[in-house]
Amino acid sequence: MPEQTPVIDPKRRAAFGRRLRAWYRRNARDLPWRRTRDAYEVLVSELMLQQTQVSRVVTYYGEFLERFPTLADVARAKPARVMEAWEGLGYYARARNLHKLAHHVTDGGRAEDRTLPADPDALRALPGIGAYTAGAVASFAYERRAPLVDTNVARVLKRVFAPMIDVKSSRGHRAVWQIAEAILPRTGRATWTHNQALMELGALVCTARVAHCERCPVRAVCRSAPKLTRRAARTVGTTQTR
Ligand code: SF4
Repeated sequence: MPEQTPVIDPKRRAAFGRRLRAWYRRNARDLPWRRTRDAYEVLVSELMLQQTQVSRVVTYYGEFLERFPTLADVARAKPARVMEAWEGLGYYARARNLHKLAHHVTDGGRAEDRTLPADPDALRALPGIGAYTAGAVASFAYERRAPLVDTNVARVLKRVFAPMIDVKSSRGHRAVWQIAEAILPRTGRATWTHNQALMELGALVCTARVAHCERCPVRAVCRSAPKLTRRAARTVGTTQTR
């Protein structure tokens, strides 16, 4: 069956994680939502980034948080005020969902201290939160050992570990989530870096338009990369199988 979850060689997995995180530490963009562990601030960034380019989100993110510093502030505001602050980002359903969620979590703004849960399943139970956003909040705010897969991550994982899967099919989609889980580092803290790095690699190197394999940190372990020489393959303790 072409779309069964591929078995991942532990050496390949370990080399991938090591190389990915080392590259991230040297090359990551300094983005405002990477400096916070506040669950609400992480959620706002994730919702904004879902349909909008990073450069645009950087412009609006700080202003939005100044206007609505907490989830309770969003809940107490009239929906129209939240939409207004979202202007310029488009896709207003995200702002409507944020308002609904804030209302739900903070009891209309009365429960000031209530915040988002850390458990991905509990996050998924909230209005407007899908599997990716639940993983992102659990990982980026609470440093939970949680997988997350968006289109960038799916592309990278498919190319590196399972070029044969069709990520648009439901079986392929499941397989890519299983890969994301299987390659997580042991600790939540390392998982934070790992997940950020996966997304960064998809945004900067292994892009939808072009795979820049010539400057990719995980090229030596990638099943879609042009073939390596034997010597280069030996340096990562694994061999190419394609
Ligand atoms: S080697 Fe190429 S295909 Fe593989 S992850 Fe890097 S950029 Fe993508």
